[in-house]
Amino acid sequence: MSDEQHQNLAIIGHVDHGKSTLVGRLLYETGSVPEHVIEQHKEEAEEKGKGGFEFAYVMDNLAEERERGVTIDIAHQEFSTDAYDFTIVDCPGHRDFVKNMITGASQADNAVLVVAADDGVQPQTQEHVFLARTLGIGELIVGVNKMDLVDYGESEYKQVVEEVKDLLTQVRFDSENAKFIPLSAFEGDNVASESEHTDWYDGEILLEALNNLPAPEPPTDAPLRLPIQDVYTISGIGTVPVGRVETGILNTGDNVSFQPSDVSGEVKTVEMHHEEVPKAEPGDNVGFNVRGVGKDDIRRGDVCGPADDPPSVAETFQAQIVVMQHPSVITEGYTPVFHAHTAQVACTVESIDKKIDPSSGEVAEENPDFIQNGDAAVVTVRPQKPLSIEPSSEIPELGSFAIRDMGQTIAAGKVLSVNE
Ligand code: GDP
Repeated sequence: MSDEQHQNLAIIGHVDHGKSTLVGRLLYETGSVPEHVIEQHKEEAEEKGKGGFEFAYVMDNLAEERERGVTIDIAHQEFSTDAYDFTIVDCPGHRDFVKNMITGASQADNAVLVVAADDGVQPQTQEHVFLARTLGIGELIVGVNKMDLVDYGESEYKQVVEEVKDLLTQVRFDSENAKFIPLSAFEGDNVASESEHTDWYDGEILLEALNNLPAPEPPTDAPLRLPIQDVYTISGIGTVPVGRVETGILNTGDNVSFQPSDVSGEVKTVEMHHEEVPKAEPGDNVGFNVRGVGKDDIRRGDVCGPADDPPSVAETFQAQIVVMQHPSVITEGYTPVFHAHTAQVACTVESIDKKIDPSSGEVAEENPDFIQNGDAAVVTVRPQKPLSIEPSSEIPELGSFAIRDMGQTIAAGKVLSVNE
């Protein structure tokens, strides 16, 4: 990897519209697939008597990785353009995709929305765009994919572009911040080179558009926040909490506090990729060891921060939510499970304070009796067990959450304020 700036890129869109194929194509075209993988395939292909089909092999390899269920944190795929090193922040098709997108496990700077030209806007297209908007994804590149299946027709392309523009207007995503490109991920049209089949299109190809994305916001100077994913006991070391540094720096010798478990101690060692390191930065996945903190003192869902500026624990919090798919209506007293960073805690919607008009952002109704699909609202929430959460204006990485019930994500939101 170079010294280029880093971008976390989400590839979103309805199932089967071609997200994995597009990731494979991007890796392939940017030379990000290891040489030995391509070599190995060439040999295999020659043995079988069919040459020159590297791309298919890349796809098989990616599919295998997905099937092995490699966890979200290590499934990251990377490629570079002139301006940026990109990390694809999720394996497309992963069943926790939506949850991870919301809870920050796959915090993305910008996104590519894949919409199949022969299928148009579908439920997950809507859901993902809704989330991208709520969670503040900067720019959207809309790849109208599978153009080969509609004979590269301009009118089919325009029809899908119109559908997507309508959707963006509905969720108040500024269409100015969206670019549309006719693609075939499978055939490679307009991904790394201009397609011969779309002479009616004179805009940027995908790699250009990616290269021209605005630079991500510089990292905040927020204090250390490290949500704990797991707690292990390792012989010779002792208790080792592991997690990803979201903000701030973790140094050996620091005095840290785990909330809401409310224990603290001095950091003895920090390990990354099985090597001891003196410090860890945002984005680093680490295991560490804290003097005097045992396995039963802390748990998944705790957040580690400086002892003198510990993560806040919410008695109640106010949040803005967007309801995506609830079979009926949400009223006061509703108690689903909130997923915030690595925590999962049942929380009660104590009051629905106001409904927001999604097309103007203005207050549509004070204290509505209920909210339902498509509604945006400000609510006051009371966790049923201690929960560490932060206003998203202060620490965006710890200020967003998903609301899950009946096995699906029914809403997503951002924390506005916390009453400790
Ligand atoms: P995902 O569920 O969004 O990740 O979709 P996949 O990448 O798995 O693609 C679903 C199916 O569509 C696969 O059979 C792909 O080969 C096919 N596909 C993806 N992109 C294209 C394309 O540009 N053209 C055609 N003809 N098929 C495609």
